[in-house]
Amino acid sequence: MDLYEYQAKELFAAHGVPVLPGKTVETPEEAAAAAAEIGTAVVVKAQVKTGGRGKAGGVKLANDPDEAKEKAQAILGLDIKGHTVHRVLVTEASDIAEEYYFSFLLDRSNRTFLAMASAEGGMEIEQLAVERPEALAKVPVDAIAGVDRAKADEIVAQAKIPAAVADEAAEVIVKLWETFVSEDATLVEVNPLVRDPQDKIIALDGKVTLDENADFRHPGHADLVDQRTEDPLEAKAKAKNLNYVKLDGEVGIIGNGAGLVMSTLDVVAYAGEKHGGVKPANFLDIGGGASAEVMAAGLDVILGDPAVKSVFVNVFGGITACDAVANGIVEALKILGDGATKPLVVRLDGNNVEEGRRILNDANHPLVTQVDTMDNAADKAAELAAAGA
Ligand code: GDP
Ligand code: MN
Repeated sequence: MDLYEYQAKELFAAHGVPVLPGKTVETPEEAAAAAAEIGTAVVVKAQVKTGGRGKAGGVKLANDPDEAKEKAQAILGLDIKGHTVHRVLVTEASDIAEEYYFSFLLDRSNRTFLAMASAEGGMEIEQLAVERPEALAKVPVDAIAGVDRAKADEIVAQAKIPAAVADEAAEVIVKLWETFVSEDATLVEVNPLVRDPQDKIIALDGKVTLDENADFRHPGHADLVDQRTEDPLEAKAKAKNLNYVKLDGEVGIIGNGAGLVMSTLDVVAYAGEKHGGVKPANFLDIGGGASAEVMAAGLDVILGDPAVKSVFVNVFGGITACDAVANGIVEALKILGDGATKPLVVRLDGNNVEEGRRILNDANHPLVTQVDTMDNAADKAAELAAAGA
């Protein structure tokens, strides 16, 4: 889960990383009130989960409350790279002597954590990495050893952060590491990390990605979810503990096991080319124990997607055998009753497949078609989706 800047900075503050005081508001009047409360010049900043807000006109300086109101008026409702601005952060304006770049991230390809830092912040990091790679320090961080003061000093030196602020920068980096670890983040990025004219180091921007697999350790993280921008189907799936991702096609997909579902998406996309270009409508992995309840919950989410014209249930029986899955499908259709409205193509294979197929044949549900191979089933599901579209 990606956080908004204001949420990232609240986490920073909780871990002792210096940020400037601010308030998040939804109307120009509230922006004026927030500026009055802060009592200095402020910066009004669009709260959207994308970078480059400054260039898009989403970050503006305001010298007094009236100006803050005006700037908020201009920013609220703005579309920044497809994200509508519903909220702005009104925050104390800082004088900037220098802008640095800093991040901790999970470096999957090297199976380690990585610190990236540069004394040349401000510009987009992708651009810096291409144009001046020598200016961007990349320091691997061992997961067990972590970042102590000595490691932070090493990062600061490689980033060529000036000596006058090296100590303070290192202290902030240690606290950013504490944030990264104790919040179970996969990314903590500060761009810019600024040096102000008094040589104080401040996180002026913040980007944090939290690892949702660790949510059970962080009851507080649930409050960080923005209901307004969350896809309603994904929210419903999450509430039912389903591993679901909405895509933009017409063929609903249910499978057991992430690998099988991934290859089902490929096979359906390929088959769809012959049927007017229909595509998979979602990723949904119902996992190993495909009980009737889980199957019903999965079907319920997928059938709730108005874009879905057919559903492909692709199950390889393992520990949960095909007969149990077939019973699950039959029961799920009973649970859903009139809620089941779109044709289902079911492909069963693996453990106890004969019994599974027999159960579905005997149930003889008008919406269910059985097809025995994955390719043919994908073709049938695509054909039905094209016919229903
Ligand atoms: P982004 O464009 O989405 O990354 O938004 P940032 O929060 O990084 O802001 C963009 C730029 O606006 C920064 O790089 C700064 O140059 C400038 N900026 C942001 N806050 C302040 C501030 O308090 N004072 C000044 N002078 N500039 C700021
Ligand atoms: Mn930034």
